[in-house]
Amino acid sequence: MKAAVVHDFQGPLEIEDVPKPTPGEGEVVVRIETAGLCHTDIHAAHGDWPVKPKLPLIPGHEGVGIVESLGSGVENLREGQRVAIPWLGYACGICEHCTSGWETLCESQRNTGYSIDGSYAEYVKASADYVVRVPDGIDPFEAAPLTCAGVTTYKAVKVSGTRSSDLVAVFGVGGLGHMAMQYARVAGASVVAVDLFDEKLQVAKELGAEFVVNARQQDPVSFIQELGGADSVIATAASARPLDQAFRALRRGGTLVLVGLPAENQMQLPIFETVLQGINVVGSIVGTRVDLAEVFELHRSGRTRVPYERRSLEQVNEAFADVEAGRATSRLVFGF
Ligand SMILES: [Zn+2]
Ligand SMILES: [Zn+2]
Repeated sequence: MKAAVVHDFQGPLEIEDVPKPTPGEGEVVVRIETAGLCHTDIHAAHGDWPVKPKLPLIPGHEGVGIVESLGSGVENLREGQRVAIPWLGYACGICEHCTSGWETLCESQRNTGYSIDGSYAEYVKASADYVVRVPDGIDPFEAAPLTCAGVTTYKAVKVSGTRSSDLVAVFGVGGLGHMAMQYARVAGASVVAVDLFDEKLQVAKELGAEFVVNARQQDPVSFIQELGGADSVIATAASARPLDQAFRALRRGGTLVLVGLPAENQMQLPIFETVLQGINVVGSIVGTRVDLAEVFELHRSGRTRVPYERRSLEQVNEAFADVEAGRATSRLVFGF
């Protein structure tokens, strides 16, 4: 089968013919229809993070496809069903985190496209318990970005505690931010979108942002503070300056939800202001299977839109370059 493979962290991905996987006990093999490109895939391919992925590696954790074969003991799925294969490829199911609704924090988790092979391939082997059914009526090209960008920002809005009278600022409105602002809108909030690119802000407007700020032309902090300050900020932008602005755009008692992962891994947190203004700073990582099922249900019922751009797997290196240069205005999705 065809796959895009990382052999070393310095080189490009290679399009190769690799053996098709066979399902073991409790596993399924899925024939991939679509695979979204998440920025994490680029970090994985470059070995950017302290915990390195396996090598060789097939990246990809926004895979959507059709169950082709079942291993022994699989009772929750049938051949021919459409499923999504998310970042949380496996968790133990019995630890304190797993049993309290926080399987995303399981210390025994395995991650698709990182510690196990992912969806930049014609077929993927996955744990049957951790794939999520994609309801009929959802376009697989739209289901792919929902599988990470969607569920990640849906969960971020959930942990922000957003209420219907809130003002939510979204810093960075690319693939993640476009979804974050829609979930804030679903929760009833008003949305300010902040970015450096007018094309992304234009899409944000079309998706329902009440206010947009190009931070190259206008100070987002004073703009948002003039509106009364943000009750919460969802920070998908991954560098020091927008994180600092995001913090200062909050109103008293506000919540900063960190989602994007900056390469430098640091931000300045002014302790005096954090304490006196009662600021909450929360990290949010992907979402559970239930969160993803909710994301699909919202989309099936027409509450969200997924802007995407179609690419072929052969264009994977160009696609990575486009995302790294900020040229991609929406999520890139490989079609098979
Ligand atoms: Zn992702
Ligand atoms: Zn666990």
